Amino acid sequence: GVLEPTNLNSLIKEFVNLAFLGMQAGKNPIDLDINFQLDENIGQVPLIAQDFSRVILNMCTNAFDAMREKVLTRENESTAYRPQLTIQTNRHDGEVMVEFKDNGPGIREAIKEKIMQPFFTTKKGKEGTGLGLYITSDIIKAHGGKLKIKSKEGVGTAFIINIPVGN
Ligand code: ADP
Ligand code: MG
Repeated sequence: GVLEPTNLNSLIKEFVNLAFLGMQAGKNPIDLDINFQLDENIGQVPLIAQDFSRVILNMCTNAFDAMREKVLTRENESTAYRPQLTIQTNRHDGEVMVEFKDNGPGIREAIKEKIMQPFFTTKKGKEGTGLGLYITSDIIKAHGGKLKIKSKEGVGTAFIINIPVGN
C-alpha cells in the first residue's frame, strides 16, 4: 500500500460503525455509547487507508471485548455500568492524534508489557488470536507513527496513535 491523503475522520466514522454493527450482529452483543470527538480541522492525513482501517477495527473490537467482560463480571453488582467508547482526533505540532478510549476493566500492570507481543491474548478459546495489537503497531510504524497506551485498572484504557503529517 501507499500513503495517500485521506479523510481520516470519515474513515473513523465508517469503520467504527462497521465494528459496532459487527459486534451487535455477533455473539454476546452489548449496549454501549459511542462518542465521536472528531476535530474537523485535521485536514487530509497521509494514510494507507486499507491498512489503517484494520487499526480502527482492531481498536474497536478490543474495546468492545473489554467492556463486555466488565458487563459480565459486574452482573451481580447493584451500581449501573454503561460502556462508553470515545474516539477523538486532533492535530498539532505536525502530528495527527487519534485516541480510542474505553471505560472497560483496564489492563493489569502484570500484563501491560506483554499485550503488544504476537499471540499474547487473555481471551478464552478461539476468541482471541493475540495478533490484533501486534499488527496494529506494525501498521502504525509503517505510517511513521507511534502508539501509546494509558490504562488504569477499574477505570479504562486509552490507545493513542500519533501520525506525522508535516506542517
Ligand atoms: P486479542 O484481541 O486477540 O486478544 P490483541 O493483540 O488485540 O489480541 O490484544 C491483546 C490483549 O491485550 C487482549 O487479549 C487484552 O488482554 C488486552 N487488551 C487489548 N485492548 C484492551 C482494552 N481496550 N482493554 C483491556 N485490555 C485490552
Ligand atoms: Mg484484538
